[in-house]
Amino acid sequence: MPRKIHTSQPVRDAFKGVNLQAILRRLSTKLESCRSCGEPIGRNSPANLVSILNHEKRIKWPALIHPRCGDSAVYETSTAPDPNEIFFEVECALLAGKRGPVPALIIDAYGGLATTESGEVHDRLLAGFATLGFEFPDWVCHEGDGDADPVDEQNCTPGLTALLEGCEVRLLHDGRELHQLGGLRYFPRWYRATNCGALVVMIGRNLQGITFDSLEYIQQAARNKELVQAVAAVTRIPTTPADRCYCINGKARKFGSCCGSTDGPEE
Ligand SMILES: [Zn+2]
Ligand SMILES: [Zn+2]
Repeated sequence: MPRKIHTSQPVRDAFKGVNLQAILRRLSTKLESCRSCGEPIGRNSPANLVSILNHEKRIKWPALIHPRCGDSAVYETSTAPDPNEIFFEVECALLAGKRGPVPALIIDAYGGLATTESGEVHDRLLAGFATLGFEFPDWVCHEGDGDADPVDEQNCTPGLTALLEGCEVRLLHDGRELHQLGGLRYFPRWYRATNCGALVVMIGRNLQGITFDSLEYIQQAARNKELVQAVAAVTRIPTTPADRCYCINGKARKFGSCCGSTDGPEE
C-alpha cells in the first residue's frame, strides 16, 4: 500500500506545468524522511506534500512532511540541495543467464536529480548512464524464473568493465572509473558466478532497500523507466588463499577454502 499524500491547492499551483502525478508516484513508495523534523515517514503513514523554494538559485523541489509537523504548503529555504551528492545501496543477486546464473549488482541510487527552472525533475544520473550504453529494461527476471529472458553473458556492453577485488567493485567505462562500490555482501555462489565473465549492473530509483526476493520494486522501477541496466565484463582480482574471505561467510573462512575453492561451500 503506497502512502497517502495530501496536496493542497497552493502546492498544486507551485508545481503547475510539472508532472505532479509522477512526483507523487515517486514519493508515495520511497523511504522518505520528514523535511521538518528529519524523522522517517512510515511506509504506510500519511504525509503532506510541500514545495520547497530557493529564491537565490531559482529552484523548487517536492518533499514530504508529517501531518503533525506542518501543512501542505510552499516553504522557502536559503539552502539548496547539492545535486551532485549521490549515494548508493547495493545488493548482490543472481539472474538467469543463457549458460547458468549470472551475477548482478542491484543498485538503489539517491541523488543526481536536478530540478530545472520550470520545475521539471531531470534524472541526470540515469540519463548519464544511458549515454554510456545502459538500457532501460522493460522486465527483470530472477535466476529461477521459468519464462525468464536470460542474460547473454557473452554480450557485454561495449566499453563497460568491472574490477572485483574483495568486497569492492570498480565500474569503468573505456578505462575511466565511473563508480567505486564497497561493502558488497555476497555468498560464495555469487562469487563463483562471476567466473562467467559478466556482471549485470542495474541502477534504479526507489528500490526500497532492494528486496530482490520479491522483485516488486524493481519491476515497478523498470515500468516507470527508473531503472537502467548494462552488462560489464568483469575481472576478478583474487584474494590470497590464506586471507580471510570477503564473502558473507568470510569471518570464519579463508579465501582458499571458501570462494576461492572450486568445490567449496555454496552458502
Ligand atoms: Zn516530521
Ligand atoms: Zn567466501
